[in-house]
Amino acid sequence: MRVTLLGTGSPLPDPHRAGPATLVQAGGLHLLFDCGRGVLMRLAAAGLPTPALLHAQFLTHHHSDHVTDLNDVVTTRWATSPVPNPLTLVGPPGSGALVERTLAMLSDDIGYRRTHHDDLNWDPGVEVTEVLDGPVTLEVLDAAGVRVTAAPTDHRPVTPTVGYRIEHDGSSVVVAGDTVPCEGLERLVAGADVYVQTVIRDDVIRQIPMQRFQDVCDYHSSVVDAARTAAAGGVGTLVLTHMVPAPAPDAVTEWIALAAEHFDGTILAPDDLDVVDT
Ligand SMILES: [Zn+2]
Ligand SMILES: [Zn+2]
Repeated sequence: MRVTLLGTGSPLPDPHRAGPATLVQAGGLHLLFDCGRGVLMRLAAAGLPTPALLHAQFLTHHHSDHVTDLNDVVTTRWATSPVPNPLTLVGPPGSGALVERTLAMLSDDIGYRRTHHDDLNWDPGVEVTEVLDGPVTLEVLDAAGVRVTAAPTDHRPVTPTVGYRIEHDGSSVVVAGDTVPCEGLERLVAGADVYVQTVIRDDVIRQIPMQRFQDVCDYHSSVVDAARTAAAGGVGTLVLTHMVPAPAPDAVTEWIALAAEHFDGTILAPDDLDVVDT
C-alpha cells in the first residue's frame, strides 16, 4: 500500500501545507480520505489529474477544514467524466445530508454547464454509504481485495466522527482523523503498520493568550497522546499530520523528538506529497 500525505495542514492557511487529505492506494484503488483546501492540486501532483480517477472518497467528519473542497471533487469529477461516473462517498451518519446540501450549493453551476455542453446531459451523482462502526461494504473494495473498517472516534462536540483502517495484502494503514484517544481509536490502530494521526502541540497552544486557540486542545490528540496511542497499539510507523501550530520546515524534528519520548517505532512528520509505503 502507498499512503500519500496530500495535505498536512489545518484550518489555518499555510503557504506550504494544503488542508487535510490523505490518499491511500491499495490493490489498484485510489482511495481519498478527507478533502481539505487544495486537495485537487495536490492530487494532480500525486499523479491523478482528475478526481474522476478516484474509486472512493471517505470522510472522517464534517469540520470545514476536512470537507471544504468536496464541492471541487464532485464538480470536477462530473465535468471531466465522459460518461456518468457517480462518486462513491463513505462517511459518518449525516454525510448524505451534507452531500445534498453541497449539490444544492452547486445547482447554479450544474445548470450553466449542462446548458453549455450538449453532451453533458446528467447531473453529478454521489452514492453515499454512511458508516459508524464495522466493515465498509463496497463492491469495489471487495473486488480489489481491500478491506476498510470504520470505528467511532471522539472529537466531541463534533459528532459523529469516524476513523478508518485499510487492509490489503497483509498490510494495514489507519487514517484516524481528528480525535482524542478513545476505545474506537484503540481498536483501529491495534497492530497497524502505519497510523496517521492529526495532532496539535497543546504545550505551545496553551501559551497563546486567546481562548479560541486554547479550545482546540479539548478535542484533538496532542503529539504525546498520538505517541502513547501508537505505543499501546504496537504500531510500526506513526505519521503526524494536521500539525497545529504548523511547524517551520526545520522544526519538525522537535515534534518527532517529543513523540519519541513515548513511542519506540518510526515517527514521521511529513510535508505535503510525502509518501509512506507499506
Ligand atoms: Zn475536526
Ligand atoms: Zn481538523
